[in-house]
Amino acid sequence: MSQYVTRCQKVRRFLTSKNLDALLISNPVNVRYLSGFTGGDSMLVLCRDGATLLSDGRFTLQIEEECPDIDDVCIRPNNESMAAAITKICRQAKVGRLGIEAESLTLAEHERIAEKLPKTEIVPTCVVIETLRQIKDRSEIDVIRKAIDVAARAFMDIRNSLRPERTEIDLRNDLEYGMRLYGAEDRSFPTIIAASPRAALTHAVPSSQRLDGHPMLLFDWGAVVDGYMSDLTRVVVLSPTKKLQTVYETVLKAQLAAINAIKPGKTSEEIDAVARNVIKDAGFGKAFNHGLGHSLGLEIHEGPRLRSDHQTVLKPGMVLTVEPGIYLKGWGGVRIEDDVLVTKTGCEVLSRHVPRSFE
Ligand code: ZN
Ligand code: ZN
Repeated sequence: MSQYVTRCQKVRRFLTSKNLDALLISNPVNVRYLSGFTGGDSMLVLCRDGATLLSDGRFTLQIEEECPDIDDVCIRPNNESMAAAITKICRQAKVGRLGIEAESLTLAEHERIAEKLPKTEIVPTCVVIETLRQIKDRSEIDVIRKAIDVAARAFMDIRNSLRPERTEIDLRNDLEYGMRLYGAEDRSFPTIIAASPRAALTHAVPSSQRLDGHPMLLFDWGAVVDGYMSDLTRVVVLSPTKKLQTVYETVLKAQLAAINAIKPGKTSEEIDAVARNVIKDAGFGKAFNHGLGHSLGLEIHEGPRLRSDHQTVLKPGMVLTVEPGIYLKGWGGVRIEDDVLVTKTGCEVLSRHVPRSFE
């Protein structure tokens, strides 16, 4: 049985538990997760006994290639709106209660559907598919490993060939090109490369600043392979100083402590606190101004997050980043980020082959 069939069955269990006849999946990432379809402008109506992908003529061939398991495909003619197509399917399937994805269906689309289906009760749902996506299956973990590997190889090439006259923009271009050479279909987000003072900006955009004269160089980057993302951060030490060493080793100590604490049953906030306390005890508490990490998969930021205000209980199969940082205005910043798989007994650092000691 394909992973798509298994996933749709899980959604059907949700339909039964909420007494829904169907769920309209409008978030394109969720449509992909349940059907394999990677294109846009399409929705999925998942009923208790079948699923229909609603699309248009641009995607006919792509759907044939990508979605051999889908029960039914409805290619809308040019003059048929998405709302009209949804209505048709719901009438045919006698849908009395239709769940919608409240986070992605627009208000206008909701109103158009409601107008055409006056007898159908429309029920907003939240993070149903996103919750399923939190636990990665073996095929997903394999692809995430590849996305990490591609990103790591491109980074190691750059790291071994740094020259003083290169700029942040040069390195960004080389790194992104390198990831594609090694098999990435894209970068997972705009690459961050920042030398010394600019490294204090958590989301620095690469500039024409050259490397010479800077003690540190921060890289935050990732690759996409088969739709799945990786996300890594490393700080390369260009010229060591006492302060840089202190900050770096504090961040690394915080990261290792948090990674050591990750195991099923622990909560997001507990893991966040482990890293935060190490940084606080070293006197840099205020300089760690973001959450400890986030999940990733088909999107770069997924739930659950590792944050002080999240109580999600960790489960095997979750893939999370662990990325503590210390940022000091006018000086720079250090963040170290790895991608970690929660296992039955603890966790596995999927990106462990990318060196992270102070050197
Ligand atoms: Zn990152
Ligand atoms: Zn991240």
